[in-house]
Amino acid sequence: MIVAIDGPAGAGKSTVARALARALGFRYLDSGAMYRAVGLMTLRHGGPASEQAERLSLELDDGVVANGEDVTDEIRDPEVSEAASRVATNPRVRAALVQKQRELLGDGDWVAEGRDIGTVVAPDAEVKVFLSADPRERARRRAAELGGDAETVLREQALRDAQDEGREHSPLALAPGAVELDTTGLGVDEVVDRIAAIVRAAAP
Ligand code: C5P
Repeated sequence: MIVAIDGPAGAGKSTVARALARALGFRYLDSGAMYRAVGLMTLRHGGPASEQAERLSLELDDGVVANGEDVTDEIRDPEVSEAASRVATNPRVRAALVQKQRELLGDGDWVAEGRDIGTVVAPDAEVKVFLSADPRERARRRAAELGGDAETVLREQALRDAQDEGREHSPLALAPGAVELDTTGLGVDEVVDRIAAIVRAAAP
């Protein structure tokens, strides 16, 4: 079974998806980490991002290991976030990463998190959830998680939102059949419980 969790940065996807996977005993796929790894490699080595994506070897089990190097922390840097959002506009990058994601999701039970899981990567996912939250609350959460001040995070977030929603290829959008869940003012446990209930109702 595949549970797709999409939505903008700071809507709580990572925390919720990770906790949900643990609660259900499913595996967890952080597709954003893949775009971040490509962003990081492109910042470091230059050259076409699509080549970095095509040759990327990734281990996502315990942290993020890209081309044999542990980049778990480095891919969270703000400049890598920006680079990830930029390389994510490239259709060849997307094609390479979507293929890797589909290979992983082909086997077993997964909670997969991203922007295009329900629309592109796994349109047949049994459960699709679109998490949203008030932009100010999203910025506050990200500032608390990563450090930095909420106003700067809010500005950078607005740029990233515009890039993710406005891009030509696989823009962030509500998938057909997705349940939209506004997490403003909700705790992680509450969001996880609501989605777990949707999963139980959808289970064969
Ligand atoms: O989710 P996260 O913030 O780690 O994602 C980093 C960037 O990667 C996003 O801003 C988005 O541009 C891109 N992304 C994407 N499609 C996904 C996951 C992430 O385009 N499925």
